Amino acid sequence: MLSVNDAFALTQQYPLPLAAETVSLTEAGGRVLREAIRADRDFPPFDRVAMDGIAIRFADYQSGQRTFRIAGQQRAGQPPLTLDPSAQSAETGLCLEAMTGAMLPIGTDTVIRYEDLSLADGLATITIDDVQRGQHVHARATDRRANDELLPAGTRLGPTELAVAASVGAATLQVTALPRIALVSTGDELVDVADAPLPYQIRRSNTYMLRAALASFGITATLHHIIDDEQVLQDQLARLLDQNEVLILSGGVSAGKADFVPAVLTRLGVQKQFHKIEQRPGKPLWFGTMNAGQPGLARTVFALPGNPVSTILCAYRYVLPYLRTSLGLPPEPARYAQLARPFTFAPAITYFLPVRLASEPDGRLLAHPLPGSGSADFANLMEAHAFMELPAGQSEFSAGEAFRIWSTL
Ligand code: AMP
Ligand code: MG
Repeated sequence: MLSVNDAFALTQQYPLPLAAETVSLTEAGGRVLREAIRADRDFPPFDRVAMDGIAIRFADYQSGQRTFRIAGQQRAGQPPLTLDPSAQSAETGLCLEAMTGAMLPIGTDTVIRYEDLSLADGLATITIDDVQRGQHVHARATDRRANDELLPAGTRLGPTELAVAASVGAATLQVTALPRIALVSTGDELVDVADAPLPYQIRRSNTYMLRAALASFGITATLHHIIDDEQVLQDQLARLLDQNEVLILSGGVSAGKADFVPAVLTRLGVQKQFHKIEQRPGKPLWFGTMNAGQPGLARTVFALPGNPVSTILCAYRYVLPYLRTSLGLPPEPARYAQLARPFTFAPAITYFLPVRLASEPDGRLLAHPLPGSGSADFANLMEAHAFMELPAGQSEFSAGEAFRIWSTL
């Protein structure tokens, strides 16, 4: 049986070969960039007034001038005015009112805020002692230069990235095409969410959880249910394999008499990469591929154990990182927390301990164990924020020891 790390590494060897596609900026939220976005001009593109007030020549201030006659108004979105020194009298300096976002008027170099002025009779008098050359001017190209790379390929387009793309005129963007994904629950005991279950039935929940988890990538997966009948399973999975790049199944991969999933997948030509991992929960996870690496033809199948806690763990530990890689995203940075109290887990396998996270005033992130009553106890997960990965080679875990956590938020 494979270790967690070996199983994970194996899944990462078979990323889907996903095409690039062009989408409009308004449709690009959550998608992964396939091209670099560069600055089309300097950032900022001109010496930009950064505060509402007046623009002056610092040399006038330096030579003792404190009162300036207002010679005009420079507003944002208008071509720059020029401060004309010939219009200047001996008693007063000359200035232009200038608004935030305006181009700094030609012939000026320094901005004084209205808050630091007294205004009367067309004159502005500086009421502060400390004025620096160039203050409140956001000088051209101080943030980025034209042609600088602003967003590399492989960036996930969140709100800030979309703003950057908009600012350089990227009305359309090349992003990774989303895979078609089918979520399939299996089991005779499962009824639809809208149905009233008989005493020996339950409502299916796993596929809804998976669908919500995939939505964070912008993926809209389709939902399916198949009964525990080997022939029906084979016919339905054949159809779904035809129409989707990824199948994520739940249930039917354990040792039960109705657990037909692995045999049927193999018969359909999906090559088993592994079945079972030295872990709890989620030991029976099955992973297979078909036409690996072939654009348009490649298929990936994750068959997850049906117990809800197992399904959730396998989704966050294997399936979502797999999709990240396929979409062209770098791995999520590892996160760690410290155990809040000692914990014992004797079997020599990796244990994913549900934990509640609490951040302490001293900066530590503490993980409070919520072991619950096993992989079917998913009500327990309501209180959990993450799984803490307790390594296989250890059975006593001390308070204060740090381990990796996998967030389920
Ligand atoms: P299985 O992996 O098919 O042996 O199922 C293990 C347990 O998980 C059984 O108690 C199933 O009823 C339950 N289960 C399987 N699939 C789902 C599902 N989609 N939603 C909720 N529970 C499920
Ligand atoms: Mg089942």
